[in-house]
Amino acid sequence: MDDHKKQPKLIIVVPCYNEEAVLPITAPMFLEKLTELSASGKISDDSRVMFVNDGSKDKTWEIIKRLSVENEHYIGITQSRNRGHQNAVLAGLMESKDICDITISIDADGQDDINAMDAMVDAYISGCDVVYGVRSSRETDTFFKRFTAQSFYKFLAAMGAEVVYNHADYRLISARVLQEFSGFKEVNLFLRGLIPLVGFKSTSVEYSRNERLAGESHYPLKKMIALAVDGITSLSVKPLQLIMTLGIVVAIVSFIGCIWALITQISGRAVAGWASMTCIICFVSGVQLISLGIIGEYIGKIYMETKQRPRYIISERTYDK
Ligand code: UDP
Ligand code: MG
Repeated sequence: MDDHKKQPKLIIVVPCYNEEAVLPITAPMFLEKLTELSASGKISDDSRVMFVNDGSKDKTWEIIKRLSVENEHYIGITQSRNRGHQNAVLAGLMESKDICDITISIDADGQDDINAMDAMVDAYISGCDVVYGVRSSRETDTFFKRFTAQSFYKFLAAMGAEVVYNHADYRLISARVLQEFSGFKEVNLFLRGLIPLVGFKSTSVEYSRNERLAGESHYPLKKMIALAVDGITSLSVKPLQLIMTLGIVVAIVSFIGCIWALITQISGRAVAGWASMTCIICFVSGVQLISLGIIGEYIGKIYMETKQRPRYIISERTYDK
């Protein structure tokens, strides 16, 4: 059995996009947690908080640079432009994997309870390589957000994309897992679906999720739907199989329809069947268009994958690599 390091070097990876309102509030909270963890001897004292500026249009990067001057425990990298949450987290994780033992990724807005980090580190020390932060309740969410989020997980599961229920991107990952994960080259990133595929011993830790401390959410319904579609199509080909099933069902129904039409014709009872014709045409062309759309989504994914573009581009660091 491989025993995990007793005092691992931790890097807390924090993606930040236009977070100037919340960063001055949450950055000291992350640092305080880091100090507390190293004071209690759970992590080494050269642990760090790494901010990943995701091409923010406001003062976020200036704030990160200032923080890194004020305290050596803060470090920062910036992406050359906005690439989205998943790519920002990936940039931070890949940047960290060679300079630490464990990482914990967490949102910048203070929604995820930082106190769950103690249990996460404990789980690592007792032998786990991945620790998922799982939300225990969604009381602070609006009904709409709760409902859409729940539908999101159910839909993902039904479509063959297994993800940890109520787990977003708050998790501990060891450097060892990140080394293996760096071999997953896909550009269509859905981290919470991919990390379980790497394997290794994992567990989850419950935490309560609060409201955003300041600033605005970047995940309106439109982005949530996009994330769901991305999640499904990058983890599973079940929708393609469903099209096949649907095609077979429609074909059988059409066949029965043909026989019925033939009998009506032969028995001389055929009338101008405008309504039934219209319905059938509308239905079948609808099915065809949806099917084409789904196939198109996969082709689009293949197209993007074949380009093999870099998944993140770091334009500046607050430290020397
Ligand atoms: N984020 C990012 N790039 C983006 C959008 C968001 O790095 O293009 C970061 C954001 O700064 C935050 C995290 O991703 O730390 C989650 O975003 P947000 O809190 O807006 O989403 P929500 O919690 O509402 O789902
Ligand atoms: Mg948030």
